[in-house]
Parts: sequence; structure tokens; C-alpha cells
Amino acid sequence: MSNLIVSKFGGCALANSEMVKKTINLINANSNRKYIVVSSPGKRSKNDVRVTDLLYVCYLKYTKKENFTDALNEFKARYSEIISGLGISFDLDSEIDSIKQKLFTGKSKDFIASRGEYLMAKILAKALNREFIDATELIFFNRDESLDEERTYEAASKRLAGVDSAVIPGFYGNIAGTEIHTFPRGGSDVSGALIARAVNADICEKWSETTEIFSADPAIVKDPLIVRNVTYDELRELTCMGIRVIFEDVILLLQKVGIPLLIRNIYNPDDPGTRVVAKLPEDLNRKVAACIVGQRHYKAIKIEKFGLNRMHGIGEKVFGIFAKRGISCEHYISGIYNFAIFLKNMMFDLKRKEIINEIREAIHPEKIEINKDVALVAIIGEGMGTVKGIFAQIFNAIAAQDIKVHMINQGADNLNIILGFNDEDFENAIRALYQAMIVDQDKI
Ligand code: ASP
Repeated sequence: MSNLIVSKFGGCALANSEMVKKTINLINANSNRKYIVVSSPGKRSKNDVRVTDLLYVCYLKYTKKENFTDALNEFKARYSEIISGLGISFDLDSEIDSIKQKLFTGKSKDFIASRGEYLMAKILAKALNREFIDATELIFFNRDESLDEERTYEAASKRLAGVDSAVIPGFYGNIAGTEIHTFPRGGSDVSGALIARAVNADICEKWSETTEIFSADPAIVKDPLIVRNVTYDELRELTCMGIRVIFEDVILLLQKVGIPLLIRNIYNPDDPGTRVVAKLPEDLNRKVAACIVGQRHYKAIKIEKFGLNRMHGIGEKVFGIFAKRGISCEHYISGIYNFAIFLKNMMFDLKRKEIINEIREAIHPEKIEINKDVALVAIIGEGMGTVKGIFAQIFNAIAAQDIKVHMINQGADNLNIILGFNDEDFENAIRALYQAMIVDQDKI
């Protein structure tokens, strides 16, 4: 049975010739790694510069009529080191000349930014002796810059059908037939997911420096368990709670067709990494939660109004006040005559008076109370809400620490239970919940 893998390598996996060699060995170690999607060379050390940033500098300097030679030379030096380290022949000079020409002929910022991935893919293809296929043949955007998914899958699956293996630049695609458009920064992961879908891959790999997904913040809990298996839904919840491993779009793209995502660490290739799947393996030794995550410094806006439960359009009126200012209400809970909105947006602080007045005018509440310094902690895991006795376990753990719970909210999808605490109780609450829900979960 074939096991087709699309592997996406991030900037750190291609940062210099040493890393590129490692990446080449990894690719060659598994003949199922057929389609390789690459970022451009990333940082070689903490204070280093990504080549994409060098390209943005070139573009900016050009538009300001400043000299961009230094930035372009720096860009060139990065590739020159990789080419000589790999010992391949590659006409870098004419590629650099072409970038310069394109700047002078008024090519777009996106075009210039895309040259990092373009060159990296070309060099890697040469080193691997694989076909280079430009992303402009595979990934398509509509004129309004939205992704044309249908056309992308159609074109990419057709183009790659007879191709045994290839190297493809990430981060950009074709717009309006002849122009280039880029995804947002870090967008090569999206390219990887799109190619995985187009070729109906069995696995989509993401190789980066991303450290493990911990079941709790290691700065709070000593040696927390590493999450090796997580569902798409769980990962999306984690993303919403501030654990950014990957763009939510990437999860959604793969989730729609059930292609597993393997998150691997380039600095530790023997580590199995984390598997993101639709359904957890049956033999997984996890009964309830995958992770305990949270954030401090929320504001809780509590609104009280008698008869609220019988009124129409309250949600529309109140949320609309936030929405028109671009403030998202991150969490929301409701009681009988009251409800509370939790948010972190700074804009709220700036427009606070105005917003509160508008809420007063719109629904005439009896009371509006704002609590600051609220911490929200989420217990995340598939099917959690259906586990018998889970609330008793949670409250026992919290009560044993003498911590006050301000609110509790069980997600309708049974994937999370969110608790609100005072900011100062945040770490103790996480430790207590970790112990109860992750370590001693067999007791439930
Ligand atoms: N090179 C681009 C960036 O630095 C895209 C990517 O790495 O995914 O954002």
C-alpha cells in the first residue's frame, strides 16, 4: 500500500547549508516523501534575519528610491552559502539579476517576497535531483485575493498526476494569470496543506522548530506530559486559547478530508512528534483531557437585566456594539437574567466609556459590572462533557487549593470546560487541574 507523504519544511530546516543537508537526508530517508513544499531560509540564530524580511527590505528601499544593494547582497550570500555547502552548480547570479530587473520593472511586493521560496525550491530540487514545479502552476487566487480552492485542487492534481516526486515553493500562488500573490506570513504551511489535498496524500508533514505540544505550560507545571495525539478539533481549541502551533486554516483544510497532520521537530527528527487526526487511537491511554491551557488578564463585562430571557435581539444589539469597533467577544456565558462577555482586546479599554453607554442605551440593563484581571483556564479534550463525575473532580481539585471559581462554561461540542479565576489564582488552578485531569485522570 502506498503511503503518500507531502512534507513541508519550514525556514529553520533550510536556514543554512548544514540544515539543508539534514533536510535532504530526511527526505531521502523515506521514499514516500514525494512532494516537498518549502519555506525560504529562516533564522540561523535568535537575532538573525529571515530571507523574506531581506526581500521586503529590498522592496521598501526600492520604492523609497534608496539603495537596496546591501540587502540584496545579504540575500544572495544566504543562498550562495547553501549552494557551495551542498556542492551543486547553480546559476545564482542570473537569478539575482532577474530579481533586480523585476524590481526595476515594477513587479509587486508579493512577487519580490516570493523569490525566497522560489529560489530555495529550485536549489533543493537540484540537490535532490527532483523536478521543480512552480507554485504559480498549482495554487490559484481569485482577483479579490481570496484563494480559489477548486481551481487549485484541479490544477495541482492534474499537474502532479504524472510526476513521481517534486519540490514546490510554499507561500505564494498565481493571481490573474500572470501575477504572484502571497499568503500571510508563515503561509507556506497553507501551501503544504493544499498540495496534500490536491494529491490526496496519506499524511501531511510539517517540519519546523516548533517544540512539542505540552499538556500544560512547562513554566507552570514541572515536566508536563507531551501530547502525542490530538484531534483537529482539540488543536483548534488549543489554537483559540493561544497555543499557536499552526494556522487554523491549515487544520481546517486537512480536517475537511481527514488527512492526518504530523508535526515534527527538525532539531529532533527521531522524536515521533504530534499526530493530528480526526479520531484518537482506541488504545490511547488518555481518558479525559488532552491539555490544560489558559490566559490571564481578561476583562469580564457582566450585564444584568430582568426579563432578559424573554427579550428579542439582545445578542445582536450588544455584540453589534463590539463588532462595529472590530472587538471580538472571545468568550460568553449566560445566566437567567444576566450574561457575561470575556475579552482581552485593548480597544475595549480605549473605547470603554462609549461602549458601556451604548449598551445602556440599547438594552437599558439594571447593572453593568466590569471585572478586570480575570484568568480563564480551559480543560480541553474530546468527549469531556460526557464523562461521569467530571465536575465533581474539577471542583474537588479546585476547592482543595482554596481557589474561588468565578464562572464555568461547558462548550456545546463537549470539547472544553472553561473556568474563570482571579488572575492571582491562575497558576495554582492550572497545577490543580493538571493533576486531576491529566495525571490522576484514572481516578475519575
Ligand atoms: N517565508 C515566509 C515568511 O517568512 C513564509 C513562510 O515561511 O511560511 O513568512
